[in-house]
Amino acid sequence: METKEETFKCESCNRIFGSKEALEMHGAAKHPEKVPKDKKRFPVKKTRNWVIFILILGLVIFGVYFLMTSSNSFDDLPASEINIGSHKNIALHIHSDLEIKINNQGFPIPADIGIQTGIMRPLHTHDSSGEVHIEGPYARDFTIGEFFQIWNKTFNSTCIFENCIGTESNSTLKMSVNGQESQQFENHIMRDGDEIVIEFTSA
Ligand SMILES: [Zn+2]
Ligand SMILES: [Zn+2]
Repeated sequence: METKEETFKCESCNRIFGSKEALEMHGAAKHPEKVPKDKKRFPVKKTRNWVIFILILGLVIFGVYFLMTSSNSFDDLPASEINIGSHKNIALHIHSDLEIKINNQGFPIPADIGIQTGIMRPLHTHDSSGEVHIEGPYARDFTIGEFFQIWNKTFNSTCIFENCIGTESNSTLKMSVNGQESQQFENHIMRDGDEIVIEFTSA
């Protein structure tokens, strides 16, 4: 067996062959009941187990990856694109009060902002009191800008609705949260119990 050239011995009759192919041909011809069973069936079965194992492993990895990426993209969605559907399965439910004054006139905030048949946005109103309901299927920060986006109205550091502070006029746009002036404007994160006042005054 220690020869330089590799030899192949038949396990059944001890005949020596110069190549694996020759041994296999011999085995198939002379010992069909032994060789094919031991040398062929077992490796095939082993390979099949490996293929199943790798397939399952692949599916698990893909599933975990899919869950991670899908929850990340859901986190990144603006509130105006999230549909919570109903008040079931709510993990977050807080309220802020919003008041808008245009030249000292209270601007009515309608009921059912963010609510249509089959659609309920995480930021919505149920009545016209100015109470904004902040409800999410999971806890997440929501900005007041997202509420205006759902309402389909403009609010930022220069404009409320179509009222904008011009460069020449002396109009002002102020925002206060719980009596404190805020420079956050649309980026203000709505917290439970916030009293938010947005006030526009033209010169
Ligand atoms: Zn509520
Ligand atoms: Zn609600």
